[in-house]
Amino acid sequence: HQGNNNLRPRFLRCLLSTMSSTQPPRVPNLIGGSFVDSQASSHIDVINPATQEVVSQVPLTTNEEFKAAVSAAKQAFPSWRNTPITTRQRVMLKFQELIRKNMDKLALSITTEQGKTLKDAHGDIFRGLEVVEHACGMATLQMGEYVPNVSNGVDTYSLREPLGVCAGICPFNFPAMIPLWMFPIAVTCGNTFVLKPSEKDPGASVMLAELAMEAGLPNGVLNIVHGTNDTVNAICDDDDIRAVSFVGSNTAGMHIYARAAAKGKRIQSNMGAKNHGVVLPDAHVDATLNALLAAGFGAAGQRCMALSTVVFVGNSKSCTERLASTCLIRTREDKLVERAKALKVSCGTEPDADLGPVISKQAKERICRLIQSGVDDGAKLLLDGRNIVVPGYEKGNFIGPTILSGVTPDMECYKEEIFGPVLVCMEASSFDEAIDILNRNKYGNGAAIFTSSGAAARKFQMEIEAGQIGINVPIPVPLPFFSFTGNKASFAGDLNFYGKAGVDFFTQIKTVTQQWKDIPTSVSLAMPTSQ
Ligand code: NAD
Repeated sequence: HQGNNNLRPRFLRCLLSTMSSTQPPRVPNLIGGSFVDSQASSHIDVINPATQEVVSQVPLTTNEEFKAAVSAAKQAFPSWRNTPITTRQRVMLKFQELIRKNMDKLALSITTEQGKTLKDAHGDIFRGLEVVEHACGMATLQMGEYVPNVSNGVDTYSLREPLGVCAGICPFNFPAMIPLWMFPIAVTCGNTFVLKPSEKDPGASVMLAELAMEAGLPNGVLNIVHGTNDTVNAICDDDDIRAVSFVGSNTAGMHIYARAAAKGKRIQSNMGAKNHGVVLPDAHVDATLNALLAAGFGAAGQRCMALSTVVFVGNSKSCTERLASTCLIRTREDKLVERAKALKVSCGTEPDADLGPVISKQAKERICRLIQSGVDDGAKLLLDGRNIVVPGYEKGNFIGPTILSGVTPDMECYKEEIFGPVLVCMEASSFDEAIDILNRNKYGNGAAIFTSSGAAARKFQMEIEAGQIGINVPIPVPLPFFSFTGNKASFAGDLNFYGKAGVDFFTQIKTVTQQWKDIPTSVSLAMPTSQ
């Protein structure tokens, strides 16, 4: 182990002592194995969204520090790529053990900086932990292919080699899971890495890096630089960085996709979403309503796979059936409201909290504006969470569960990703109409159907253009042996995160053709063919 022992638990200690100190701790960068304070002239406050307390300050890393991080990653690459894959796997094996041991501390950091409930923060970490577990089998995942005797005495085989220095740029909503989607796969493939956590909640990334180094990751293999647009642009422009993993909004994602591609890098860019849940008349009522609540309001709707839109399907065959199905839809909406009202909104550290605050005052304002736009456009506000006051946390950025019904595809509240605890309800008079609504939406991250009909579920699976389909499963995020497969405006690039595609993303194929036979006696300048 070559990690920096002196500094490793430092940030965690700082964070835990911050409650009593007057000066919030500065979040360190990680460069060449050392956690170092940035010399930046500007810092951004990391704010607890439930209390508005300043948790820490994150630096806008200087260009020299950024270059030093890339240079450390470049220097570490030759030796790390030649480190046996079994050794790299064992680092991950130890890393997953350390994450498990530090679950509570990581969760507390996430809740403090991001706001989600402690239970949800555990889920955030666990979903990332599963990727680390998956990386423990990298030798099999990274295997090449071999065809013997493609011609007389000639064999061809392919190898999957690491690329070099790779980088990751993270969003605020999953402070542990998303960094863990990125660097464990990249480094176990033999790459070195520069991570840019979200400036809104960088704590979990720093703690995870501390643990990765404790697990035996050599100095320089994983580096962290904090910052915002300038740091991101520096990543896109740097000639030594070969690949960029991005997760976040479409504005940033498409900018990064274009700018980094112009420098010849490969990019995987997971972006925004508007996920629909289609409820057929034969759906199991209780299970469906509970699924809608959990997937719409969990994490205060700040999940890229949140089910933010419900499409209740009626039946257009006859007038009587139409009336009956409208009645059914109203009953379902009423029940949804009733159950949503019972959810407890509070600070994420409160044991009975179902949902916490949204990330910032600006996010709250934006969400409230979109709710109002729905009302102005003619939607019915069945439940309004905008004026909620949470006792003990009056300054928090809270929005209670909000339900808009009668929403139509032309409304802004439908077209925009709201990213808050707002469920938008629509109606379709037939299943075909519902499919059409979903496919006309520009996003294609996830979609779920609730039904007891296998035939309908199969039709949905075949016809929907979203990348991840749930059949009676509201948040169909695949486990790491599959990939996270966003579609349309929710993803740019060719190779998705984790699973086989994730390994392909972080490796370059080399194809070797070898000939071992007696030396040929004649010369032929014709194109060799396999005969
Ligand atoms: P964001 O785009 O604001 O920030 C993401 C990262 O990009 C941050 O590190 C930020 O510093 C950087 N960034 C932001 N604007 C930039 C710019 N103009 N130029 C360069 N860099 C910039 O996203 P966010 O608000 O942190 O995250 C929420 C978004 O992420 C939502 O749209 C959500 O759907 C999406 N998301 C998608 C997935 C997915 O897998 N599809 C997963 C999680 C979140």
